[in-house]
Amino acid sequence: MSNLKTLFENFLVVKESSIHGRGIFTTTNIPADSVICKIEGEVIDETECVRREEEENNVYIFWNGDNYIDAADTALIKHLNHYCTPNCYVDDYDDSTLVLYAERDIMAGEELTIDYDYEEIYEYCNCEICSERKAV
Ligand SMILES: [Zn+2]
Repeated sequence: MSNLKTLFENFLVVKESSIHGRGIFTTTNIPADSVICKIEGEVIDETECVRREEEENNVYIFWNGDNYIDAADTALIKHLNHYCTPNCYVDDYDDSTLVLYAERDIMAGEELTIDYDYEEIYEYCNCEICSERKAV
């Protein structure tokens, strides 16, 4: 973990989002492929993951290929909104850590988004792609 440079962590702010509730915004330009911040959370097993998703409606659980990581307690990451053409993506880093990367160049003032990538989200999504799909 020590050599992971998360240069943009201090430039992230949470404020009102036009997508949903509040969102994470950057106050500086972020070049494509940059490491934006770490996503750390509680490591849980599959049974507990399913329970939290169903009983607690927890949508902040990430899968890193080995473990389920519940990031619901993090002040920042729970404000990361879904968008179908996102400017960020999440990849695994180690057993209990994921990393948020810039999918493309992101300008100061933009909201950071990822594709949540599960069926139900597209029902709630109001992006142009989903709005058109639902209008058909
Ligand atoms: Zn959408």
